[in-house]
Amino acid sequence: MHVLVLGAGQLARMMSLAGAPLNIQISAYDVNSETVVHPLTQMTTGNDLASAIRQADVITAEFEHIPLDILAVCEKSGKFLPSTEAIKAGGDRRIEKKRLDDAGVKNARYFVIQTYEDFHKAIEHVGVPMVLKSALGGYDGKGQWRLKELDQADTIWAEMAECIAATDHQAIVAEEFVPFVREVSLVGARSANGTVAVYPLAENVHTNGVLSLSTAITDQALQEQAKQMFTAVAESLGYVGVLALEFFDVSGSLLVNEIAPRVHNSGHWTQQGSETCQFENHLRAICAMPLGSTRLIRETTMINILGEDRLPEAVMAMAGVHVHWYGKVKRSGRKMGHINVCGDSSGSVQNKLSDLAQWLDQAAYPALHEFVRKSSTQA
Ligand code: AMP
Repeated sequence: MHVLVLGAGQLARMMSLAGAPLNIQISAYDVNSETVVHPLTQMTTGNDLASAIRQADVITAEFEHIPLDILAVCEKSGKFLPSTEAIKAGGDRRIEKKRLDDAGVKNARYFVIQTYEDFHKAIEHVGVPMVLKSALGGYDGKGQWRLKELDQADTIWAEMAECIAATDHQAIVAEEFVPFVREVSLVGARSANGTVAVYPLAENVHTNGVLSLSTAITDQALQEQAKQMFTAVAESLGYVGVLALEFFDVSGSLLVNEIAPRVHNSGHWTQQGSETCQFENHLRAICAMPLGSTRLIRETTMINILGEDRLPEAVMAMAGVHVHWYGKVKRSGRKMGHINVCGDSSGSVQNKLSDLAQWLDQAAYPALHEFVRKSSTQA
């Protein structure tokens, strides 16, 4: 099987690694350089997009901000999965919200803003405090504002108006501020025959809007709720492949924050913690193979490596510590790799995280230090 991935970053790279044992070959289309590359070496294959599409058995995507003309060409080939509609829902918060409403899935109250008048209607409808997010192009907390007091409204409007004017079809989605106790996500796969297999929920810690730590958790009631919402969204989209839903946990009641129509950073723990990792299950689903077991085989926490390209030897030497680099050039804050920390019990993972915190400094890994501090005060 040959799969063409739109996007040539770490997710395509990890699909390639997971696909090799199944004889699934991956090539990746870098939308920035407009070249088809090998996802591990980044060497160009010499193919243009049209011939890569012809040669592929299946086409998929590793991110949702794909130019619409490229999506249209891929859709026309009849080979694109999950579906271009699902990708559009992930890339435009207006469509995402509508899709969640259509699927009957709870999400934060919202109002779409295009004009100053809309902004005032949003304040009436949604209330203050509110979170304002650009409909297009925002991710990892970028393109967002917080309206905490009414007297900030005009200052924030000036920035939002500039944002709306800068991009065609741009708008702002105003959302009620959700007083969540934690953020969790559910990653799962749906195959073409409708079979759904979800992983255990992950609890996620973000720093400045970027995921920094993800831990697989066991919570039967929350898992059931999340699975039901996952199935509703996946079915309403006719989804095939791996899908991630990000939730706010409001004291045991879940609200969907975001749909990610792809393999997801909060599912990287599955590489060591589950019987079949998310990358393999995405490929199995889109290549019409049976889904692999999503069973948790060891307790795992994933730590993102942001803006660093080196780890102390002592970290590499620790048992149960698995390092995944993405082969990228170092840049401040850039996702460079991740570490999966595994143990026989959650206690043993916590001990390893405490050991790691002695080697990984606070400035680069603030969430790890906070997590260790909190667990030691709870113990
Ligand atoms: P997003 O890009 O939508 O995932 O937002 C980035 C982060 O902002 C989330 O991970 C939350 O921590 C926070 N956030 C987003 N929307 C809301 C909301 N409606 N209420 C409270 N916090 C939010």
